[in-house]
Amino acid sequence: MSLTAKEVLRMVKEQQVEFVDLKFIDLPGLWQHMTIPAEALTEESFTEGIGFDGSSIRGFKSIHESDMILIPDPSTAVIDPFCEIPTLSLICNVFDPVKKGPYERDPRYIAQKAEAYLKSTGIADVSYWGPEAEFFILDDIRFDQNQHCGYYFIDSIEGFWNSGREENPNLGYKPRYKEGYFPVPPTDNYQNLRSEMVMTMQRCGIVVECHHHEVATAGQAEIDMRFAPLTQMADQLMLFKYIVKNVARRHGKTVTFMPKPIFQDNGSGMHVHQSLWKEGKPLFFDPNGYAQLSELALYYIGGLLKHGPALAAFCSPTTNSYKRLVPGFEAPVYLAYSQRNRSAAVRIPMYSNSPNAKRIEYRPPDPSCNPYLAFAALLLAGIDGIKNKIHPGEPLEKDIYELSPEELAALPALPGSLEEALKALEADHDFLLAGGVFTEDLLQAWVDYKRGEVDAIRLRPHPYEFALYFDI
Ligand code: GLU
Ligand code: MG
Ligand code: MG
Repeated sequence: MSLTAKEVLRMVKEQQVEFVDLKFIDLPGLWQHMTIPAEALTEESFTEGIGFDGSSIRGFKSIHESDMILIPDPSTAVIDPFCEIPTLSLICNVFDPVKKGPYERDPRYIAQKAEAYLKSTGIADVSYWGPEAEFFILDDIRFDQNQHCGYYFIDSIEGFWNSGREENPNLGYKPRYKEGYFPVPPTDNYQNLRSEMVMTMQRCGIVVECHHHEVATAGQAEIDMRFAPLTQMADQLMLFKYIVKNVARRHGKTVTFMPKPIFQDNGSGMHVHQSLWKEGKPLFFDPNGYAQLSELALYYIGGLLKHGPALAAFCSPTTNSYKRLVPGFEAPVYLAYSQRNRSAAVRIPMYSNSPNAKRIEYRPPDPSCNPYLAFAALLLAGIDGIKNKIHPGEPLEKDIYELSPEELAALPALPGSLEEALKALEADHDFLLAGGVFTEDLLQAWVDYKRGEVDAIRLRPHPYEFALYFDI
């Protein structure tokens, strides 16, 4: 909708808004919020901001620097579709009152800096982003997060799904194993639920291109938004997740964006379509290039592939992400590019011959990422590729399954674990510091935060270890 501060204040009056909900993004990439009465929102709120205590926000700094300021962005104004009392929602930037400037760990600020840096290079003036977030719709009762911390996890995931698939043939219209993509209802049991999610998005100004069931049996879904500039798309993705989860909740369902909730079934990716434009013209198209790609697009791909291991720390940022990035489930494994190969990290969609539609699809990301940081890191890798003319080499045209073990071993692969990805980021991050977009402080905070997750998993006996070792 892209309103100005004045227009937002008018909207508050006209729509009899009672409350204003101020939302911002923590380091791992979740919305946090605070609500003020509508009359407390003034024109100054958009310049001076509203104070809050940032001391216990995940990934932000500790107590002594806890006074923070939220500066709402009027262009993000939307009536919250789930509040019963009329509430206006605004996404905010976080300001540091001591430095009197943007807070350096605010993910939204990093995304904004990445966009400004792209412009300053003169390479392009805008980048467009189209994330395809997949997710699972599950029953509230069966998938209790807390129960999942215990042995119930093994029973439900391996026992339940296997027995559902193999021992009880009477499944009615349930999708069969790996056949979720995409029969019509009644096999597709979530048509109405997804439509309701999409209609809620549309009411909030998000343009949706399609929705469908995904491959996995247990209600895996995908909703695709029309492309948008970087920060705007990251904002939309936050709203997208909020809507998906809350619509599901209304119907007694629950949604997870975790990349690999179910053993031996497809995981949830978030392929990210990307293109660069200058003065209204697309830069990735050349009718005579490989897959109709321009040389600039090839260099962009070169940057993505070269920095692929380090990018994984932002694009596949959970321990669970690496359970998805394995062969056999349409998730990428190799740092290669191809027109058709879905095991390659970069795929070039060939749906259209239109120059405007020319884009590349980066497949490693999953929806557990912080989109502000992931998109910014991808853009910086691409810019690095263009600046340094990093050619991506030959495309991978053969079917991965036809390659010999020697050929496979020669292909560069994505990291196999979060720890490997964090090490790759430590070894390769100069491209992220370009233009001051990422800072050493932010990178260190990210690595420390994520190592905490690595340890949380590494130090706990895994339920399956009991299956392997209890009776040893
Ligand atoms: N679910 C697959 C993944 O984990 C992607 C399926 C698709 O191509 O849409 O990346
Ligand atoms: Mg998909
Ligand atoms: Mg895709």
